[in-house]
Amino acid sequence: MPNSDTVAVPAEPEKIHLPRTSESESLKRIRHTFSHVMAMAVQKLFPKAQVTIGPWIDYGFYYDFDHPEPFTEKDLKAIKKEMIKIINRKLPVIREEVSRKEAKQRINALQEPYKLEILEDLTPPITLYHLGDEWWDLCAGPHVETTKDLNPKAFDLESVAGAYWRGDANKSQLQRIYGTAWETPEQLQEYKRRREEAKRRDHRKLGKELGLFVFADEVGPGLPLWTPKGTVLRTTLEDYLKQEQLKRGYLPVVTPHIARIDLFKTSGHWQKYKEDMFPVMADDDQDRLAEQGFVMKPMNCPFHIQIYKNELRSYRELPMRLAEFGTVYRYEQSGELGGLTRVRGFTVDDAHLFVTPDQLDDEFLKVVDLILNVFRSLQLKQFKARLSFREEGSDKYIGSDEVWNKAQGAILRAVQTLGMEYFEAPGEAAFYGPKLDFIFRDALDREWQLGTVQVDYNLPERFELEYVAEDGSRQRPVMIHRAPFGSLERLIGILIEEYAGDFPLWLAPVQVRLLPVTGDQLEFVQRVAEQWRLQGIRIEVDNSGDRLGKMIRNAEKSKIPVMAVVGAKEAEAEALNIRTRASGELGAIPVSEALERMNTAIANYSNF
Ligand SMILES: [Zn+2]
Ligand SMILES: [Zn+2]
Repeated sequence: MPNSDTVAVPAEPEKIHLPRTSESESLKRIRHTFSHVMAMAVQKLFPKAQVTIGPWIDYGFYYDFDHPEPFTEKDLKAIKKEMIKIINRKLPVIREEVSRKEAKQRINALQEPYKLEILEDLTPPITLYHLGDEWWDLCAGPHVETTKDLNPKAFDLESVAGAYWRGDANKSQLQRIYGTAWETPEQLQEYKRRREEAKRRDHRKLGKELGLFVFADEVGPGLPLWTPKGTVLRTTLEDYLKQEQLKRGYLPVVTPHIARIDLFKTSGHWQKYKEDMFPVMADDDQDRLAEQGFVMKPMNCPFHIQIYKNELRSYRELPMRLAEFGTVYRYEQSGELGGLTRVRGFTVDDAHLFVTPDQLDDEFLKVVDLILNVFRSLQLKQFKARLSFREEGSDKYIGSDEVWNKAQGAILRAVQTLGMEYFEAPGEAAFYGPKLDFIFRDALDREWQLGTVQVDYNLPERFELEYVAEDGSRQRPVMIHRAPFGSLERLIGILIEEYAGDFPLWLAPVQVRLLPVTGDQLEFVQRVAEQWRLQGIRIEVDNSGDRLGKMIRNAEKSKIPVMAVVGAKEAEAEALNIRTRASGELGAIPVSEALERMNTAIANYSNF
């Protein structure tokens, strides 16, 4: 990648680390104790409230209460105040081990039916945790030793949401109060700042403001519609990757959006994946019942396999790398849909590599190299590799132990050869093979899964793929599935938030806007725009007739990376007065020089 260190750099991640509960034993104790303190405060203020469960979560805790009315903002304030009182009383947190019978008696005395249900599922030792001698809860711990260890300035109550007992919509409706808790007030401040920043960067909000995509009720949930600007963004990403793939010997293919169910029965998707697929389309009801019809494709792999299989392949043709931006459809529950990160139809930058067993390690490394290149061009710097392996003894997977060990071994060798930071995640594999997933950490310290590479010995087996080896024998190829972007929709959602809408010059839907100071310069700027457009630059003219200040503000609001002001003086001198989002005012630059600098910056993925 040329000049990658001169590219528009998104904000550096914040220095204060905000640990998740899973990362910090002391925060685990703190957050869990806070949920008890909150429950005690709620029952003190609302004697009718019954307690259910109150676990820690990533950055805090919640507690579910059975309470006739939803808690209000005002209630939260009162609860918080009561919690501070409890903390300041420095109550000891005392563990007590009791028999099941004893626990039952005490719960009955309190008339807490939910606790009784919880007790039934507990295995000994059964422990109660007391706050002083006033309040207790069934809990396995761990907690801090006294409420003195909780910092009353380092927590907050965040929101109330409806929840169901045991997550079951047929059971009682509960009120869930969410809170966050930290060791220091500075951490709490930083956490709140990031929450605000996350709201500001929310891709649903920015996507609307910048006019990138829309959703329509008439079309359906989880089905984004790409506007012209969003489409430019998408195709720029697509074109970039297609170019990189051509350089690396990938072969483009196009496949349909539906196929016979049988195809997915052979691949195993139907058996393992049916709930996530859209229902069967068939000519008549009988076919539908007999599952003889067609389905929307949830994955592209079986289609590419058919292209491979269409003729007898020779070892000379391998590795064969078939690539497609393939749109797939998955039936997500509508409650889970929000913005671009969860959708029902999305486009995968998919490719399937058919390789000989000897070529596997080398091809795998080349794929990882491509993915790292993609991340550099996108200015995504912080990521680590997750080795998504099989969970031993689970029946979620297809294939023998032998092929799984071989495939997992190939992935491990690759990350070790590259010296990448990695961690193993048993149970995260695809059903047909292990994966190497790239987990990206964004400017707000949040983690997202992006690109993925998978080694697969199973589908070649199921589809009986072959090639003729050098000695004339028939051999079975290995498959690599890979997608550097993952899904275009999801990637764009993540990029919008990472850049806070300020796309690097090469990606920006509109790269330049020309601002004529009066109508007299309109003809000149339109001529410049035409000229630049012929060079492939995405340029527009502000012909609103607004005053200059307003035109500048509008261009800033639209997050256009380069704007050029043209008054009588500039038009006369054939120059543009340029200001960029990255470097501020650059002054008057002759049109031809400006064009050249523009082209260079785009080609280098850098700023003007
Ligand atoms: Zn507890
Ligand atoms: Zn695949």
